[in-house]
Amino acid sequence: MIPAHPDPSFDMAALLDRQRSAFLKEGPPTLADRKARLKRLRSAVLAHRREVAEAISADFGHRSRHETDIMETVGVIQTIDYLIRNLRRFMKPERRHVGLFYRAGRAYVEYQPKGVIGVMAPWNYPFSLTIIPLATALAAGNRAMLKPSELTPRTSETIRRMLEEVFPADEVAVVLGGPEIGAAFSGLPFDHLLFTGSTPVGRKVMKAASDNLVPVTLELGGKSPVIVERGHVDDRTMASIVFGKLSNAGQTCVAPDYAMIHEDDLDTFIAQFGVSVARAYPDGPTSDDYTSIVNDRHYDRLRGLIEDARTRGARVIEVGVTPERSADRARTLAPTLIVGAGDDAAIMQEEIFGPLLPVTTYRTIDEVIDYVNARPRPLALYYFGDEGADRERVLTRTTSGNVGINNTMIHVAQDDLPFGGIGPSGMGAYHGIEGFRTMSHAKGVFVQGRWNLPSLLRAPFGRLVDLALR
Ligand code: NAD
Repeated sequence: MIPAHPDPSFDMAALLDRQRSAFLKEGPPTLADRKARLKRLRSAVLAHRREVAEAISADFGHRSRHETDIMETVGVIQTIDYLIRNLRRFMKPERRHVGLFYRAGRAYVEYQPKGVIGVMAPWNYPFSLTIIPLATALAAGNRAMLKPSELTPRTSETIRRMLEEVFPADEVAVVLGGPEIGAAFSGLPFDHLLFTGSTPVGRKVMKAASDNLVPVTLELGGKSPVIVERGHVDDRTMASIVFGKLSNAGQTCVAPDYAMIHEDDLDTFIAQFGVSVARAYPDGPTSDDYTSIVNDRHYDRLRGLIEDARTRGARVIEVGVTPERSADRARTLAPTLIVGAGDDAAIMQEEIFGPLLPVTTYRTIDEVIDYVNARPRPLALYYFGDEGADRERVLTRTTSGNVGINNTMIHVAQDDLPFGGIGPSGMGAYHGIEGFRTMSHAKGVFVQGRWNLPSLLRAPFGRLVDLALR
């Protein structure tokens, strides 16, 4: 079921025109107006949080409301609060240096709203990945059009209703639909487009945006490695890897995709993984906090990855048993370690996006660095180990969107850190002041003083050369 806009005559290009006209007519919102919009959004999120969690659970087949609260709603509220707290500072024009020749003029940068921001979101965290970009766009003084995912239709519809209650359509509007609507949406002449989704679709979106020279921020995916230093397979490491890999059943852009373990630690890793899974999910894959796979296509794809690795000689270790598919637990897939999959296995080539963790072993840290660098630059890289030469070497010799040390995924919750990928894992960043600036135009302004030298900057130039090139 692909959700469609309730009004069949709905015209998204006309909506963009309306938003842009309203933006131009009213001018950039004041600090107070922006805070008021953020507060309105905050109240709406809290008022609809149950409804959102139910919609997400229905869309996934099962996801506990606690998981949705912790993994989505808390992040949304923290981001809104962070933006409200820091907005005055973010909006302040920034004084810049003026060269001697141009004194006593003044130079500063003014962060001006860009206008109308397009936001395209994926299905895996369908609420936060729509609302956090929206909050950022509003903080920067913009209007926004949102295109949530068709794979979570109930959630997308709930978001639409929630936002319609608190924002007029010329301020914030939601466009519903599948890939065709996404393609049309990405071809609109927005003032900026923030896309979160897969690398192949990101490529198409960037192409479509380029027709109108729309600047893009691409938040994409990839294979994020987790590297465990020799001797560091302990309870804390394993709890954090299990958290990263099994939250949302691994359907997370920054989930550790595969693990690189020192060869002496492999047996301990396998044993400890089971212990840590049992601690976090006491009823195994039927635990309330264990999420289902979003649809049959992804479920079958993941089973296919397991079978492909098995036929190529990898060891497949299921932790707990994949439950029979039942009405209330459709598409639940047990946590699974895949040990010794070679580079030819599909699981070592494509982003997994599920509760499967391939484990490879290494002897030296340089082998790890070479392995990571031979592959596309990942969205995140995780390192477990002591502060020391190996850790430093991995940090300085590899390039990834972000890094987590002795934890997985927590960097995303740091309001003040930029979040984004590099190369095939993304382009540009949001969160932190970077998010505000991504959605603002940094306008350089020079104000001439009454007596400064630029007033001499007129032909004939000969008299100035000696002065300028001293
Ligand atoms: P997707 O690329 O299939 O879809 C994302 C959005 O694009 C959806 O709204 C969809 O309707 C739209 N879309 C689909 N086909 C389109 C087309 N041809 N033209 C224009 N728009 C189109 O991604 P997904 O499957 O929803 O999400 C999973 C992917 O997103 C994974 O690769 C994951 O790593 C990535 N992701 C990245 C981040 C991040 O912050 N970097 C966060 C979450 C997910």
